[in-house]
Amino acid sequence: MATRTATPKSKTTEVRIEQYRVRFDRRAQAALCAQIAGACRLVWNILLADCERRYRLARAYGQWTDFPPEDRPDLSTSFFTLGKRFTDLRSRPDAAWVRAFLGSPWGRRYRDMDLSWLRDLPYAPVRYTLKYLADAYTRFHAVWDVAATQGKTLGVRKSDGKPKGFPKYKKKFDKDDGFTIPDNVRMDGDRLHIPKVGWVRLEGSGVYRGHKPKQVRIRKEGTEEHPKWYAYVFHEVPVDRLKPPAWTGAVGVDRNVGQATDSDGEVYEVPDDPKLDANIKRKQRQADKARARSKANGQPMSNRGRRICGQLKKRQRKQKRRRENAAHQHSRKLADTAHTVVIEDLNTKAMTRSAKGTVTEPGKNVKQKAGLNRGILKSNWGRTERMLDYKAGQVLKVPPAYTSQTCAACGHVDKANRRTQAHFRCTACGHTANADRNAAQNILARGLALCPTARGTGAAARREALGPCPLPVATVKSTSTTREQGMPSRPRGSPPWYTGI
Ligand SMILES: [Zn+2]
Repeated sequence: MATRTATPKSKTTEVRIEQYRVRFDRRAQAALCAQIAGACRLVWNILLADCERRYRLARAYGQWTDFPPEDRPDLSTSFFTLGKRFTDLRSRPDAAWVRAFLGSPWGRRYRDMDLSWLRDLPYAPVRYTLKYLADAYTRFHAVWDVAATQGKTLGVRKSDGKPKGFPKYKKKFDKDDGFTIPDNVRMDGDRLHIPKVGWVRLEGSGVYRGHKPKQVRIRKEGTEEHPKWYAYVFHEVPVDRLKPPAWTGAVGVDRNVGQATDSDGEVYEVPDDPKLDANIKRKQRQADKARARSKANGQPMSNRGRRICGQLKKRQRKQKRRRENAAHQHSRKLADTAHTVVIEDLNTKAMTRSAKGTVTEPGKNVKQKAGLNRGILKSNWGRTERMLDYKAGQVLKVPPAYTSQTCAACGHVDKANRRTQAHFRCTACGHTANADRNAAQNILARGLALCPTARGTGAAARREALGPCPLPVATVKSTSTTREQGMPSRPRGSPPWYTGI
């Protein structure tokens, strides 16, 4: 069945995120930002510990519904409840639950801490970190419920012995160090107002710069010695100012490890840098060693270890930037090529599952599978897919079975059709093609069979689709037809070879 994941275009505005580098006027501003980020981390950790304490109490009481309501621990993990507790922590440190928490084993490490400095920091950004905690709990409860209905357990996380998917405590120098200005964002030209910090300058040229800012995430990136601050501004952009997708046409994409091919034969390559990969691997090993050493002798990490962690972070950031850039370019190119993009419904999680097996039943080809998994993850198709969701006019997902063994010309399915990785030759009709392109054409045909009203697949379909398009008619004419000639003709109704897949 078709999954339409692209956002409906009936909304008047959409949110686009732009990244800017933050430039401070005074050094104290950077220090204050670091303090706010630190407060977010502290508040997250305290309230997560408190949630755990409440849960443990409830479990220890057993039939705790027998207790009077005021003695029962409140197990809610909603943003509303957590926000109220944050207000207590900040302004009423003598509240009953705060005293109970600090007196319990979960609050021991915070007992002698002076929390009055929270009052000097902006209220809304620090409180908003609990929105993320509430969301993390919601996600955890969702997977927990799914596992419970299937009669399974979630399994234990190696690092801390908690169930998999449970919210994690935040560490200093974590990769997501920062805070969010949730609303009432004040921007003036290239300047942004951070509460209690003051005005800072934003550097960078976003396409959607100048549109109304809804929310800002301030993040500390870079290394420990040389932090770089970035602002991710959520702009509210009117629909008619968005970069529009192609007006008509449909294209199928076959995604492989390291590259994708579309039904026109265009190849989209994922950047590959073995030197950088090897470097990251080496730094990772060194960092692991340094961490193990500091743990063994109970000392904080050595200066050298911290430097290596910084170098590792820097290289990982570089790798991430390159992959993200490729994903942006690929999705933009596809969205510019055709209105409807048809892709296979791939389950990356199932595909990248380890082949390790169990002790009694060891898996086969564990090492090869591990390498393939790395390749699949590196190819970043999930990210490209999410980008297509908002860039393309329509995204269709089709079942992936046998797309590489089916002949795009006659529909004959045979394993022998695909002689080599690259070459396809039909054993029934003799049709030859590039194997990936053949698969992409099959994907396209399946998508069009599922969605006969896809734009650019027939005059009637186009008339039908003309209604909701926000584009002026002149643009429609200039971009519409050229691609249709090169497209395979749409099978009328359900093609005979489509059934039974
Ligand atoms: Zn054939």
